[in-house]
Amino acid sequence: MVTRTVDLRSDTVTKPTEAMRAAMATAEVDDDVLGYDPTVFRLETEMAKIMGKEAALFVPSGTMGNLISVLTHCDVRGSEVILGDNCHIFIYENGGISTIGGVHPRTVKNNSDGTMDLDLIEAAIRDPRGEIVYPTTRLICLENTHANSGGKCLSAEYTDQVGELAKKHDLKLHIDGARIFNSSVALGVPVDRLVRAADSVSVCLSKGIGAPIGSIIVGSKSFIAKARRLRKTLGGGMRQVGVIAAAALVALQENVGKLESDHKKARLLAGKYYHTNFNYFRIK
Ligand SMILES: *Cc1c(COP(=O)(O)O)cnc(C)c1O
Repeated sequence: MVTRTVDLRSDTVTKPTEAMRAAMATAEVDDDVLGYDPTVFRLETEMAKIMGKEAALFVPSGTMGNLISVLTHCDVRGSEVILGDNCHIFIYENGGISTIGGVHPRTVKNNSDGTMDLDLIEAAIRDPRGEIVYPTTRLICLENTHANSGGKCLSAEYTDQVGELAKKHDLKLHIDGARIFNSSVALGVPVDRLVRAADSVSVCLSKGIGAPIGSIIVGSKSFIAKARRLRKTLGGGMRQVGVIAAAALVALQENVGKLESDHKKARLLAGKYYHTNFNYFRIK
């Protein structure tokens, strides 16, 4: 009998495939801090196109992608961001938006499907003509899929409604789309449609789609130009990083199409072995 071990700690523990390692070994590279790495350029161009945004920036992690995005939108002291009380940025990112960025988080209750009620979001927006004691609301953050709600997907319609609310109050909308491809496949909605209302999106390449390292943020050209400067400030500018981007390009080509079968298997396992107190951070 052949025994196979399937490691289900997280979708982050995948190893690079043969094709990824081959692509890494032969990747064309140059200094990406100076903006010359052709493989990173290809990855950023491809991701901007897939996400339906003007430009993209490769970053070392999802945490840095969210941090850079929030700080780029909230570049004035006294800025406040509205986000879910059960979202990744608020719970699992060391409070970086506050400790590093000086951005004040205003939480709104997350429902069990990962949404926040529109009227609660609107009630949390500060009146810009209000008392001088209030911080200034500048940004709303959503998370799709919503990790702490068991990977629930936010619909395009809901995202559009939050986007309209943001526009009405002259705010920006950021989506933590660590697993946005999973959402797109599960909902059967193209990924660019899902994030149409967003001013920026952070996408993990090293989660569901199985690249070894990295995330991408997408947005307008001017947003990405500011984000690039901030990435350098945070120490996230990397030199011949095409070695990593090459694996991510393979992940995009090979693995997005496999998510549907991933979801089928996950549902099967969830039905059999579902238990709620599993916490992968405890595994040492
Ligand atoms: C994993 C994750 C991140 C952060 O990504 P890292 O690459 O681990 O820093 C952000 N948001 C969500 C929803 C995540 O699941």
